[in-house]
Amino acid sequence: MSEHRVSPAQQRQPGARLALRGDLLDFTTAPARAEADSAAVRFRPDHWLLIEHGRIVGAQSAAPDASWQQVDHKGKLILPGFIDSHVHSPQLDVIGSWGAQLLDWLDTYTFPAEARMADPAQAQAGSVQFLDALLAHGTTSAMVFPTVHKTSVQALFEAAQTRGMRVITGKVLMDRHAPEALRDDVDGAERACEELIERWHGQGRLAYAVTPRFAPTSTDAQLAMAGRVLARHAGLYMQTHVAENRDEVRWVAELFPTARSYLDVYAMHGLLNARAVLGHGIWLDDADRAMLRDSGAQIAFCPSSNLFLGSGLFGWAAAEDAGVKMSLASDVGGGTSLSMQRTMADGYKVQALAGTKLSAWALLHAATRGSAHALGLGDEVGSLEAGLMADLCVWDWASSDVARRRQQVARDLHEKVFAWIMLGDERDLVESWVAGVCRHRRTRTPESRA
Ligand SMILES: [Zn+2]
Repeated sequence: MSEHRVSPAQQRQPGARLALRGDLLDFTTAPARAEADSAAVRFRPDHWLLIEHGRIVGAQSAAPDASWQQVDHKGKLILPGFIDSHVHSPQLDVIGSWGAQLLDWLDTYTFPAEARMADPAQAQAGSVQFLDALLAHGTTSAMVFPTVHKTSVQALFEAAQTRGMRVITGKVLMDRHAPEALRDDVDGAERACEELIERWHGQGRLAYAVTPRFAPTSTDAQLAMAGRVLARHAGLYMQTHVAENRDEVRWVAELFPTARSYLDVYAMHGLLNARAVLGHGIWLDDADRAMLRDSGAQIAFCPSSNLFLGSGLFGWAAAEDAGVKMSLASDVGGGTSLSMQRTMADGYKVQALAGTKLSAWALLHAATRGSAHALGLGDEVGSLEAGLMADLCVWDWASSDVARRRQQVARDLHEKVFAWIMLGDERDLVESWVAGVCRHRRTRTPESRA
């Protein structure tokens, strides 16, 4: 085993005064997308991050007194925990599946895997494995698609609650164009949503998201129901997919002939608001971007998935210039890794093809503070500011000979962080902390790796 979940006996409980030593890196505001030199970056090398009752209370360069339990990670990088704003928990089983584009990928790989989650035991085991895998990749918060089964949502909420994680999820809605075992109906789905909202929404760090998979798998009646549920409860999120693939866009135009565009299908049903997160958004036009800006809805940019399924190149610059909120997401299992480092690296490459050279800061911000603010969670997660939850990860600056050499010759902080993103992955992760509790710890050192 290269890594393990930290057993309860090994976990440091919140309440203790904790101080973590390392190189603290976060953002105080949003950086410009293509500038290596940014005043938005806050780098505090060799500082102690102070944590009390699960929250960050400050940082200082001097060692704290003996009332603080000291955890010394001198020389390592401490970042806010990553936020993955669009990921599918049942799709770990189909990650890296060959040879399909979106629509046949769903039929061939994804729907059979999701059907297995009807079994409560599978849903529970799958949720535990999924959240522990997120923690083992440095992701401490996520917005997640489980399956249509109520049991899959319950299992995910329970596992998230056990780990103290900020998780947003909800029952997937699909009442057409899916196999029988994965279809619901309007009334049954509405009841399930209401029961799950009543039980879980706002409990601790959990929130409910109304979750129509995407327009083709819901009837007008079901999308209207989703809009009613969203309007009925304060603080609900909405998550879905939009304009990922050109065949999909054509299909939506056939299915919803009165809609101006794919995005307009969701607008027509009252599904766009400041808590709406739409995966992909590759094939949008100016009117769509204006609609996103005006509603406050955000696009979750999923570069690994977009490359893997051959979906297309998301227009980051056009979206940002139009005032659209954005976050970064793995979209596993369309994406091929839960690692947000790999996701950032793919994001850089996609935007390079699209003509924009994103800075390391723009990428890292999108995976931390930017995502937190887009989700309305900027006062809880996404940076190392006092008052926020102590969700953070400790990383090696390098864990291979090539990466170590690259760090040695890097001339400035941007170069170091950019190389860390491009050359790194979850093997760099040392520890993941959630609300001041260590939830994942690597057990072998980089040197012991072949
Ligand atoms: Zn997705």
